[in-house]
Amino acid sequence: MEEFKRIIREVPDFPKPGIVFYDLTTLFKDASAFRSAVDSLAAHYHDRAIDVIVGIESRGFIIGSCLAYQLGAGFVPVRKLGKLPAETVRQTYSLEYGSDSVEVHKDAIQPGQRVLICDDLIATGGTAAAVGELVKKLRGDLVGFSFLVELEFLNGRRKLDSCEVFSLIRYP
Ligand code: AMP
Repeated sequence: MEEFKRIIREVPDFPKPGIVFYDLTTLFKDASAFRSAVDSLAAHYHDRAIDVIVGIESRGFIIGSCLAYQLGAGFVPVRKLGKLPAETVRQTYSLEYGSDSVEVHKDAIQPGQRVLICDDLIATGGTAAAVGELVKKLRGDLVGFSFLVELEFLNGRRKLDSCEVFSLIRYP
């Protein structure tokens, strides 16, 4: 975990003053760190019979698609509003100021399929919780949430208490 933390770039005051942005592009471009991160996540789920990985736009696509390939699962993108071409279901969630929405194709998950939600990082947990609601709307069997990085001090996993939350790199 310390080696990963050394590689992840911390950018102070981005996108606004007081926020430290954990820039994972420095991990993604490091061939051995990237492989090791994906392999470690995949190892955690190897016996869970996951049918579908749901990746959250946009960095969740990078990790989520690698994980899907490793686990022999399908990959489903959850996107910001208006990006998906076919019929969608939508979930709106609150932000510090205002709200945001995410969408998934209505036929992306079949009822009862075992689903793992994946993103690069969990902060307040609002985004992941909204994606959890989308999976429930499609009657998927939500197995858990998977993140490369967890900002534990924001206690985002509290919003995801109904199933397992696993993260590789944790900032207390
Ligand atoms: P949240 O809904 O607060 O858990 O925010 C999660 C989403 O915002 C993830 O897709 C992250 O990529 C991004 N995010 C939030 N805070 C940070 C941060 N401090 N550094 C990097 N990404 C962040």
